[in-house]
Amino acid sequence: MTRPADQETLEIIRNNWQQVCSDVADACKQVDRDPTEVTIVGVAKYVDAALTAQLVAAGCTIIGENRPQVLWEKFDWFQQNGISMPRWHMIGHLQRNKVRRTLASVDMIQSVDSVRLAKELSDEAVRQNRAIDFLVDVNLTQDATKTGIGREELCLQASALSELPKLRWCGLMAMSSFDADSATIANEFSEVRKLRDQLQQSLVGKSDLRELSMGMSGDYREAIAQGATLVRIGTRLWNGIL
Ligand SMILES: *Cc1c(COP(=O)(O)O)cnc(C)c1O
Repeated sequence: MTRPADQETLEIIRNNWQQVCSDVADACKQVDRDPTEVTIVGVAKYVDAALTAQLVAAGCTIIGENRPQVLWEKFDWFQQNGISMPRWHMIGHLQRNKVRRTLASVDMIQSVDSVRLAKELSDEAVRQNRAIDFLVDVNLTQDATKTGIGREELCLQASALSELPKLRWCGLMAMSSFDADSATIANEFSEVRKLRDQLQQSLVGKSDLRELSMGMSGDYREAIAQGATLVRIGTRLWNGIL
């Protein structure tokens, strides 16, 4: 986990970060959005803690991890090495027996994929006296290979999700279908946004569902065009390194 990065690696990571920032800004401009409305979550699951720290040094303030244990290990490594902490976002499936430690390390859990998990998070957040932001991972295409809560269940449970103690429901996370073409992807993201808008109307005064976490290295443009506020970029940040 601790291989020090050489000078050349540092340069590559800095360049990649700047390139991704400017590409995201371009995608915003193309659809008349203010680039400050879209935040890049740097997905660091492909690299060790030392390289993750270099991405933070390059300017990335939010790091996304999809495996709880790796997130804890990196969190500890940052702490032990006295490196200033980024904000950590959990973006992958969270097993219920990993709730306690994960909750203590992260700022947001983007991947709440069951009501049961949300309730356990709430119970643990109460125990730790720690408020936490979360997104609901939605699966609108009934794709069995993907995690996420379906539309019907989400609508039924929305009110309960918005009332969980110590949990702040901030929006939705979604992934587009694997190998879909650009028009299909745009349509899928548009459906997520419509669902968010509909939920928001029913939750006025309860939850502020301002965040839409959609878009990765291959489809961030479509996502930004459909209203993404968080894009989760991995592969493009590690060009030339992996
Ligand atoms: C890996 C991952 C990403 C980043 O995907 P890239 O295609 O590497 O940019 C985004 N979101 C989730 C949930 C992931 O697991």
